[in-house]
Amino acid sequence: MEIAIIAHDRMKEELVQFLNKNRALLIAENIQLIATGTTGGKAENAGFRITKMLSGPMGGDAQIAARVAEGKTQMVLFFKDPNSSHAHEVDINMLIRVCDVHNVPLATNEATAQLLLNAISKL
Ligand code: PGA
Repeated sequence: MEIAIIAHDRMKEELVQFLNKNRALLIAENIQLIATGTTGGKAENAGFRITKMLSGPMGGDAQIAARVAEGKTQMVLFFKDPNSSHAHEVDINMLIRVCDVHNVPLATNEATAQLLLNAISKL
């Protein structure tokens, strides 16, 4: 199963902590992680294997949306910063819409992300 992870700048640390907390689950379920560029780099530094797309503002969210549309990505964990606006807001909204179009599970905060991972866990 391929899961996309994305975190806005002020949420990146929270996402890395979330990944560390779920490391055993991710390994046990043989999860392939893909990420926007900067988020992916942080996760790599924490020891995770990540397929990195472009950075979000350079089109990374759009690349992930394309993978969702093509059926290659089965879940999106998006740690959105609710307190800042982004130049690539249209790409973010497009990703959210594409997840809804294709009925792909999408979390936009840590609590939901944890529920989604728990739902696929056999641990
Ligand atoms: P980033 O992109 O991981 O390259 O920072 C995230 C985003 O802002 O969509």
